[in-house]
Amino acid sequence: MYEKLGITTEVEELINNTEKEIKPIFEKIDKTAEFNSIKVISAFQKYKLSEIHFTSTTGYGYDDIGRECVENIFADVLGAEDALVRTQIVSGTHALTVALFAFLRPNDVMLSIAGKPYDTLDKVIGIKENPSSLKSFGINYEQIDLKENNFDTEKIIERVKRGNVKLIHIQRSRGYSLRETISIEQLKNIILEIRKVNNEVIIMIDNCYCEFVERTTPLEVGADIIVGSLIKNLGGGIATNGGYIAGKKYLVELAGERLTSPGQGKEVGPTNGANKIFLQGLYMAPSVVASSLKTAILASAVLEKMGYKVSPQFNDNRSDIVQIIEFGNPEDMIRYCKGIQFGSAVNAHCAPEPSDMPGYTDKIIMASGSFTQGSSIELSCDGPIRPPFVAFLQGGLTYQYGKIGIMRAIQEIKSKNK
Ligand SMILES: *Cc1c(COP(=O)(O)O)cnc(C)c1O
Repeated sequence: MYEKLGITTEVEELINNTEKEIKPIFEKIDKTAEFNSIKVISAFQKYKLSEIHFTSTTGYGYDDIGRECVENIFADVLGAEDALVRTQIVSGTHALTVALFAFLRPNDVMLSIAGKPYDTLDKVIGIKENPSSLKSFGINYEQIDLKENNFDTEKIIERVKRGNVKLIHIQRSRGYSLRETISIEQLKNIILEIRKVNNEVIIMIDNCYCEFVERTTPLEVGADIIVGSLIKNLGGGIATNGGYIAGKKYLVELAGERLTSPGQGKEVGPTNGANKIFLQGLYMAPSVVASSLKTAILASAVLEKMGYKVSPQFNDNRSDIVQIIEFGNPEDMIRYCKGIQFGSAVNAHCAPEPSDMPGYTDKIIMASGSFTQGSSIELSCDGPIRPPFVAFLQGGLTYQYGKIGIMRAIQEIKSKNK
C-alpha cells in the first residue's frame, strides 16, 4: 500500500521497526488522554450540555446561553474561575495581545522569566519598534533568561522584590528557540517561590501547545491566567479559529473589556455558529493531542537513528507537542518540510518555499497541508532558515496520518542521497 504514496520498502521497514521500539511509551500517553477525557466529559455533564447550546447568535450576541455554556465548560476543564473563548480572537498572538493590553498600564513592568517570548510578540511588546506596541503606551519590558533549562530563581526573586513588576509572563513552549519546554512541575516550583515574596503580581502563562499534554493545568499550580489558541491543542483540529484566555475571574473580565469594549466586555460577541465546533474540538482534543505526541515520538526516534540531533528524545518526558529536529543544513531541512507537505491531506501537490512572514525576522518555511489555514494541531513543520537549521514539527490529528507524513518526509530526504 505504501508504494501508492511513493514510499519505498526501505523507509517502510525503518519506520515499522522504530515503531516497535517506541510502542511501550504510547501506553502512558493513552492514560493521560483518558484522564483528560474524563475532565472534558464531566464538564459537559456538569453544565448539562444540550442541543440548545449549539444554536448561533449574530450581531451583538446578547444573551447567548450557548456561549456561556462553552465558556463555563472550558473554565471547568482548565481549572479556571472563568474563561473567554471566542471566535473574535484571531490567533494565539491576538489572545496574548488582548491579555497583555488588558492587564498592563503605563509605567508597569512586564517581566518575562522564560527568556524572550515568541517572535510574533516582538512588536506587541516593543522589542521591535511598532507605533502600537505596549512600549508606545509607556509599558516597560524586562526579561530574565532561563539558566540550564530552568528558571533563574535567584534573579527572578531579587527582581520581584525590587517592586513595580505588574505581570510575569511565562511562555512554556519553546517557540522558535532551542530551549526545553517548561513542565508543570517547574511552573509549580517557581510560582511557589514568587508567592513567598509577592502575592499581587499577575502570573500569566502562554500555554500554546501544552494543553492536555500533562494532566495538570498551570492554573491548578497557582498561575493566574493562561492563554492559548484554538487552532492548536484545545481546538482538536475541529475548531476553525479562535483563542482562549482563562483564569481568575477579574482578569478574564478585564480581557473581555479589552477584546470588545469597556462596559460591554464579555456580554457581547456573537458566536456565529462556533459553539458546536468549539465543543466538538474540545471533546476530541485529549485524543488528538495524544496522536500528535505519538507522531512526534516516532519522528524523534527515526530521525535520531538517521543521525540528526533531536529534542526531546523519543523517551523524554514531554510538556508540549513540539518536536525539534536539527538538520544542520538548509537542504535537508527544506526537503523534510516539503515531504511533510507531500504527505498531507490538503495541498499535497504543492511544495512550500522559504519566504518572509509578517511578524517574523528570518525567512520561514512552513509545511502545512491542513484543513484549517495555519492549524498546527494538524501535522505541520516549520522553522526559520537560519543555522543550525532547525525544523519544528507538530500536530497529527490521527497517529496513522502522522506516521504517513513522517514516512513521506523521510522518503524525501532519502531520495536526495540516491
Ligand atoms: C503558536 C504560538 C504563539 C502564537 O500563536 P499564533 O496563533 O501563531 O499567533 C504564541 N506562543 C507560542 C508558544 C506559540 O506556540
